[in-house]
Amino acid sequence: MTGWTISSASSSSAEHDEFKRMFSLLVALVTAVFTAVFDISATLGLIWLSPSMFMANLGSMAVGIVTAALLHLRPQWSKPLAWTAAGNTYVLFLIALYSMPGDELRYVWFFAHAGGTFLLLGSRAGWATIVVTEAIIIMSYVAGGIVLSENALATFCFGLAATGALYHCYNFRTAAFLRRIELGRRQLEYAASHDSLTGLLNRPAFMARSGRVLSEAGRSPVSLLFIDVDRFKSVNDRHGHKGGDETLVAVAATIAGSVRVTDSVARIGGEEIVVLLPDTGAADAFAMAEHLRARIETACPIIAGDRLSVTASIGWATTGSAAPSIETLLTDADEAMYRAKQSGRNRVEPRPAAGVIELAGQRRDVDASPGLQPAFSEITDQKTAVSS
Ligand code: GH3
Ligand code: MG
Ligand code: MG
Repeated sequence: MTGWTISSASSSSAEHDEFKRMFSLLVALVTAVFTAVFDISATLGLIWLSPSMFMANLGSMAVGIVTAALLHLRPQWSKPLAWTAAGNTYVLFLIALYSMPGDELRYVWFFAHAGGTFLLLGSRAGWATIVVTEAIIIMSYVAGGIVLSENALATFCFGLAATGALYHCYNFRTAAFLRRIELGRRQLEYAASHDSLTGLLNRPAFMARSGRVLSEAGRSPVSLLFIDVDRFKSVNDRHGHKGGDETLVAVAATIAGSVRVTDSVARIGGEEIVVLLPDTGAADAFAMAEHLRARIETACPIIAGDRLSVTASIGWATTGSAAPSIETLLTDADEAMYRAKQSGRNRVEPRPAAGVIELAGQRRDVDASPGLQPAFSEITDQKTAVSS
């Protein structure tokens, strides 16, 4: 049975990576503590250890302490350090196998190690550990390096294989469980940040993203478009709420399909959609607004069998020299949108302080801005507002 191991199933999960790091830390520390306990007990005369076992314990303790310290200080090295922690204990148990013949139950450690390897490094590493262990034990038995009855050898081999099978199933189930949790988490995250009707960002997610965009913008301008569908009540009146919903979905898709991947589109009210344009000065924002207005006007979605003529009024605002705030941008763009409504709808209006913009070969007095994006570089429509 292949499939997911704990380690591969959740490679994308930071929480699980942290869990594995903590587990490696535990293995390294437990190895250090137990080797110390064994050596102290031997020094106090409570147990007997061969000199080589005593020294191996000291070495393993040192490796355990260094591994634990590095896991703490260098979390990015977790993977090789996990292998180091597992390898350290494995070598220790192999040394115990040969240097402690008086301990008949030293084979038990291989069971503990196999389980730990499955949990720490995944099922492949677990099975590899089991195969190598059984090969070593069988070869040692054949070569006379260890003394075991045939039944004890078979019990060891079958018992270790059964341990592997159990841990494999456990890993498999856990991986499926983790996948379901991860999927559920993503679905929840999506539902919490998106509008269920249009699939656009919702207001809280938009505000959070805008805050990040503005704080990272530095000196480069950021613009915001405030789009309100014209006479939407009459769409509802004529085509019912369902028809209104379908119209909203169509308008949202038109807008989302017309912006750059770096732009953020959100539905912040009933039929109000905003677009945040990072690294976009006034001229480009104006061009984009006009482009969207024209796209919405010409989209003519088919709603309940009728080809519908839908228009929108758009207000836009661009960050100025003052410290930018998304609230100010929204207020300015909303105000501009309101003026577009008052001026007859199906129009684009700039925020009040944006200067004067005239089209079709006339005066154009706006902020300097980077090159116009080809996707929205057509500024042609005479309906567009010309002054503030
Ligand atoms: P104006 O051109 O002035 O914007 O006119 P309008 O009719 O669009 O005016 P207003 O903004 O006042 O009306 C918006 C309407 O949108 C009111 C409300 O019933 C409707 N609405 C809000 N949310 C939804 C929705 O999710 N689905 C549908 N179908 N209608 C909605
Ligand atoms: Mg409206
Ligand atoms: Mg409205």
